[in-house]
Amino acid sequence: MCGIVGYVGGKQASKILLEGLSKLEYRGYDSAGIAVRNDDGNINIVRTKGKLKNLIEKTNNGEDLEGSCGIGHTRWATHGEPSEKNAHPHYSEKDSVVVVHNGIIENYAEIKEKLIEKGYKFYSQTDTEVVANLIDYYYKEIENDPLDAIKKFMLRVRGSYAIAVMYKDCPNEIYAVRKDSPMIIGIADGETFIASDVPAMLKYTRDVYYIDNMELAKITAGKAEFFNSDEEVIEKELVHITMDETAAEKNGFEHFMMKEIHEQPEAIKKTINSIVEDGKINLEKVGIDAEKIKNYNQIFIVGCGSAYHVGVTLKYVFESIAKIPVQVDFASEFRYRSPLLTEKTLVILISQSGETADTLAALKEAKKHNVDTLSIVNVVGSSIARASEYVLYTLAGPEIAVATTKAYSAQLVAGYLLAVQFAKERDVIDDKEYKNLIEEINAIPEKVDEVVNTQEDIKHLASMFSNVDDVFMIGRGIDYAISLEGSLKMKEVSYVHTEAYAAGELKHGTISLIEDGTLVIGLLTQKSLIEKTLSNMQETKSRGARLLAVATNGIGAAKSCDYVINIPKINPYFSASVAVIPLQIMSYYMSVLRGLDVDKPRNLAKSVTVE
Ligand code: GLU
Repeated sequence: MCGIVGYVGGKQASKILLEGLSKLEYRGYDSAGIAVRNDDGNINIVRTKGKLKNLIEKTNNGEDLEGSCGIGHTRWATHGEPSEKNAHPHYSEKDSVVVVHNGIIENYAEIKEKLIEKGYKFYSQTDTEVVANLIDYYYKEIENDPLDAIKKFMLRVRGSYAIAVMYKDCPNEIYAVRKDSPMIIGIADGETFIASDVPAMLKYTRDVYYIDNMELAKITAGKAEFFNSDEEVIEKELVHITMDETAAEKNGFEHFMMKEIHEQPEAIKKTINSIVEDGKINLEKVGIDAEKIKNYNQIFIVGCGSAYHVGVTLKYVFESIAKIPVQVDFASEFRYRSPLLTEKTLVILISQSGETADTLAALKEAKKHNVDTLSIVNVVGSSIARASEYVLYTLAGPEIAVATTKAYSAQLVAGYLLAVQFAKERDVIDDKEYKNLIEEINAIPEKVDEVVNTQEDIKHLASMFSNVDDVFMIGRGIDYAISLEGSLKMKEVSYVHTEAYAAGELKHGTISLIEDGTLVIGLLTQKSLIEKTLSNMQETKSRGARLLAVATNGIGAAKSCDYVINIPKINPYFSASVAVIPLQIMSYYMSVLRGLDVDKPRNLAKSVTVE
């Protein structure tokens, strides 16, 4: 988690660092800090608890920090509470080494003890302060070789890190290294930038280097040199980024989340159009061919949070349309549970950022077993995209709100198209059915658009229920998968306690929690299961619940509920794409009405790059 920035060039570093951090604040926002070297060679560090605006105020918008070389950080605490003392940059004793770090040093406690024995003192509870002192220790031990000190550090620590280091002895130089946490380096005329993600430097440059795992970089004004862990020079190719800079702006919306809710039709359409040509699915760009598709006899889908919920939906879709067994795993479980992977297994990994640490680790685990891996990823060139055999890019554009909407929607359609192509190549469906299914998928953006643009009723319901304590979302089959995502959205942004339940499971325990006034939201899009779910809803009503149905238009039985949100008719396989929208919108308004920070909910960060 967290965002890292760095700058060396001719301009005042502090302003560029603060600007860069503002583009990365979605990654972590419990504290922030910058370090800038002034002309006298001193490195001045300013840190604050809380959001970036506190740091901007404390530095007088950067004016107070002179100098043209510096590093910065927005933190998502893993070790030590959010506080000024634990905020980055961290420094070694006597400031000889100053670092910002994204990740976790797993063996930090043991190293800290050893460093204390050697006389080092510590002021914070973080694992990152250990990084600063350990590099300082090696730097002094081996006659002040900055690269060698970092190399030794890499050999000594376990865990994940993207680190930018400034040495007091090395003016106008920043050193960087990464393992399992993201970092890119941008180059402009006489200037060099470091960042965790592209938007932080787009204003200044579109030419970037991707620094790979276990590689080091020495950064000076307008230049970056790369080394492997043996300190041998590596030649890297400069990549030109074409991302639209304004995509990361709010464009008149009050929050990124609402802007991104509105961008869903476009994100879905672009993703479909990238694979569907002349009415046929073309996976050439993904790289997977018909022979491969025919050969698999099982699929594992792996993801975290909403990406996992996409997986749960796709399990139903793949099994129904393509008749291939699918297992869905949380990435954090998959990596440790010895899944039974054979040469006929395909592992599909889903991640918006392509940097999710658990998913990346699951990918590595799959590769250890020599099975094929296919990732559905939004960020081009991200670690998961680069490490997997086949990549299906979603074209959702940059997603800034921490709670995903448009990336989730784009992942769903990417998965539907894969399922349909699997069905075709495996001769499960005929040409007519193939054509029909593609047409149904092509119609999704329009239906999503319709819901996105008729928010008044949903807004009204949100105001009625914004003060509830508990919400249960229930459904069967794909409706259950939709409940999972709707429930997570509501928890994330409105902090209301919600539970998603397979409707038939409620009576096996959870129904004891239903009280007078509890809100039960039932998803009613799966024709064959609607009556069953409605019965389960009625069981809760008999115990005092208020019922809200999210139902496909035309389901008369939904009228037996207290409130109904109708969604446009859609093929039940693909209903998640439409039925989730009212739940996103309702969660959004509940958050706004409760006065919460919609785009940056407490305790969360956008791309979870720690385990
Ligand atoms: N582990 C470090 C800390 O707790 C870095 C966390 C982050 O990636 O923001 O300070």
